[in-house]
Amino acid sequence: MKRKYNFYAGPSTLPLPVLEQLQEEIVDYHGEGLSMIETSHRSSIYDTIHNETEEMMRELLGIPGDFHVLFLGGGATLQFAMVPMNLLGGDTPCDFVVSGAWAKKALDDAEKVGKVNVIFDGKDSSYTTLPQVRDVEPGSASSYVHITSNETIGGVQWKEFPKTGRVPLVADMSSDILSRPLPVSDFGIIYAGAQKNMGPAGVTVVIIRKDVADASSDGLPAYLSYKTHAAKKSLYNTPPVFSIYAVNLVLKWLKNSGGVEAIEKLNQKKAGAVYGSMKKSGGFYTCPVDPSVRSHMNIVFRLPSEDLEKKFIKEAAQEDMLGLKGHRSVGGLRASVYNAMPLDGARVLADFMDTFAEKNG
Ligand SMILES: *Cc1c(COP(=O)(O)O)cnc(C)c1O
Repeated sequence: MKRKYNFYAGPSTLPLPVLEQLQEEIVDYHGEGLSMIETSHRSSIYDTIHNETEEMMRELLGIPGDFHVLFLGGGATLQFAMVPMNLLGGDTPCDFVVSGAWAKKALDDAEKVGKVNVIFDGKDSSYTTLPQVRDVEPGSASSYVHITSNETIGGVQWKEFPKTGRVPLVADMSSDILSRPLPVSDFGIIYAGAQKNMGPAGVTVVIIRKDVADASSDGLPAYLSYKTHAAKKSLYNTPPVFSIYAVNLVLKWLKNSGGVEAIEKLNQKKAGAVYGSMKKSGGFYTCPVDPSVRSHMNIVFRLPSEDLEKKFIKEAAQEDMLGLKGHRSVGGLRASVYNAMPLDGARVLADFMDTFAEKNG
């Protein structure tokens, strides 16, 4: 078997030891005589995994006791609706930073629920910049401020986070959660679909401050209410047990790899290798994103022509590098180098970029 380097933006590469362990346990989990896919979410076997997964999330990110950690379905996309349904009501607006395609989707759903005030829109720079953190000032009566910590399509990433005081800061961290240490206490809600940096698709992690959950709207359908899930410890209905189990293994792998501090250093090296090749190319590769906010997870770049971009993608695939095509809405190229992408993968890509630029420049 030869595993290729998988640069897809999501679902994305998982650590090989995790896949191997899943394979080994797929028919018989730890001699229990059944698979984790078949295990009741009310069983003690699952209960142990459920609690352990929450504990590891808390430990890895330093999540304080005044936050719930929830495991929900529906992807980050459901949170685009759940956040405003729970937090936005009446005439009180929320504030949005529109930093790219994902922030825009979250904004569109919030606008269906209540009043939204856009405090920054990156439109004029084609979403290649972010506001200074000190300029992110919520209105005095704001319900919350919404940001997207990493724009998976545009390749724009917050390097530090605004402090919004009394107003809860809500962040979609789908594509960079667990890639670096986080000041969790500065947030009201952090949400992230698993399939970029945590595991397979199917589960979404919601880290929500308890008082924010307590203050959320009453009268919502059960599944859409944070209160329901917080009261039942994410076991109100059947959680995606197998996905959560896979997340459990990824978190163990991350712990054994030194945690978020160690992975942040590795991620900097990986991104540094690819951005380094761009710089070395003397303009053959260009990155549209402002250098101060270039993502360490999703690296976007262009070549001198679309024909050369097609050629690059084709030849990279022949050398076992997959998923380098940019999102269909923006074109160009994108290398997603999430936590599970080994340093070797980034180096192989960087070397390929050097050679390709020499041959075609
Ligand atoms: C992938 C992604 C989403 C959407 O996630 P789903 O699980 O498909 O709903 C939302 N926000 C960001 C930043 C993403 O990268």
